[in-house]
Parts: sequence; C-alpha cells; structure tokens
Amino acid sequence: MSFVGIDVGGTKCHGVRVDEHGLVLEEIRYPTPHASDLVDLLESMFHELSGTQTLGVGVPGLITPDGIVRASPNMKGAHNIAVGPELRSRLGISVHVENDATMAAFGEWKAGAAIGAMNAVIVTLGTGIGGGIVMGGQLQRGANGFAGEIGHMVVQHNGELCVCGRRGCWERYASGSALRMLSGGMSGEDVFAAASSGESHALFVVAAFADWVAVGLASLTNICDPEVIVIGGGVVQSFELVLESVSKSFSAALYSSESRPHPVLHVAALGERAGAIGCALFMTQG
Ligand SMILES: [Zn+2]
Repeated sequence: MSFVGIDVGGTKCHGVRVDEHGLVLEEIRYPTPHASDLVDLLESMFHELSGTQTLGVGVPGLITPDGIVRASPNMKGAHNIAVGPELRSRLGISVHVENDATMAAFGEWKAGAAIGAMNAVIVTLGTGIGGGIVMGGQLQRGANGFAGEIGHMVVQHNGELCVCGRRGCWERYASGSALRMLSGGMSGEDVFAAASSGESHALFVVAAFADWVAVGLASLTNICDPEVIVIGGGVVQSFELVLESVSKSFSAALYSSESRPHPVLHVAALGERAGAIGCALFMTQG
C-alpha cells in the first residue's frame, strides 16, 4: 500500500509516494504555477506518482476543512480556490487539503522527530514561522481548520510590521528572515558561521535570536504543555549552535520553570520532505 502527498511551496510543488511508514518510494518536483493553474498541476502530478486511491495536499494559508483555499498570502491569485472539491471531482478519489505547516507537523509527528508523542509542538522556522500542535494524541485543527498559526502569535505589542498586516508577530523576531533583520542583512548561514568563529557581533545576534525563539516556545509550552518540541525549517541546519542558548532562555521564560518537567527540544528529522510526507501519511488515517 502506498500514499501520495503533494506539498505546494512558494517556489516548487513537491510530490512523494510513500509507504505506510513514510518511507519515500518516489519523488517529483515542479515549479509552483499561478494559482489558476494549481489544480491542473496537482492532477497531473497525482497521475505521475499514481498507484493509490488517496491524495493529501498541503497549501500555505487558510484552508477550510473541505479544502477551499480561502487566502494564501504568498501565492498570486489564491483567493477562494476550491482545490479539494475540484480534485475530488476530477480524480474520483479521497482528497484532503490542509495548511502546509500543519501537514509538515503531521509528518514529523508520524514519521520524524515527534514520533509516538501524545503532546507535541512542531515549529518550522523558515521565511516565516509555521507549526502544528498535537494534544492528547490528536492533531489540533480548531473550529475552522485554522489552528496552529503560531508564527502570528503576538510577542511584542505594536512591534515590527508583519506580512499579515498586524504588528509584533513572533515570526518577525524568530524566523529566518528575522535573523536577517537582527543581523543587519546577513544570511542565517553567514551569521552562524561568524558566530562559530567567535565574531562578537554575530554572537550578539545569535543570542538575541535564541532569546526570541525561546520566548515563543515558552508561551507555547505554557499553553500546550507538550512533552516534546520539534524545531525544523531552513534555520535548523545550524541550530545545534543556538540550541543551548535557546534552552537557557527557555528555562528562564517558562512559567514555574523549576517545578515542572520541561519538554525535550528536538531538531526536525525529515527536513524539507516533512510537508509532502505529512500530506501522504495524513491519508493513512482512514
Ligand atoms: Zn503576522
């Protein structure tokens, strides 16, 4: 038995066929088209990967439970697109469309660094911050399917302007692009390289960045009480460098820190495949 998942990213659509454990059997990538051509591309990618009766799709933005893309700020023309209903009618199979970060979280939970956890928070630090929350052995989707938008948790009232139009969102301070802002324009890679060679400005930037990451993780822990937090995304390649500072700031920011078990912080295991694998495995739930 195998399952097909497609992760729609800002620049590419990544499709996989996996077995029931999430092992990738086949993998394809195409450039992300204009939103008006998205369903056509997904249909042809499904046929290319073929051999299954289900399809899971991850799309950035707000997705309704029946698979309508309400809004996707980074995809041109994506407003009220009926991706799920259209694919179901064209393919005649079971199709589920979900927020891409939720799908990546699902992948890490089912086949990655949070495997087996009953309570987990999965955080993706990329251009923005995405995530997913597992509580009581269930992925939390909220009343409308919009739960887990952890990047838009406000950590600074009237702070930096966010792409969402509001101010002070966590992703303005603790994402890959925030790292660039904090460093005055350096890439994350360059900041971490300079910090590991002891350059003082870079060390200062990394410490400030770690602090902002920790503030958000502590708030999420105060709310969700997870046993594990998984941190993924582009920033993670050098994350070992900041993990110690994050842990230290995290302990300081956590409510009643000395009197409670702390969640284990893990680096994500599936890398950029987490989204597509999560999409495919989502359909194993029946
Ligand atoms: Zn925001």
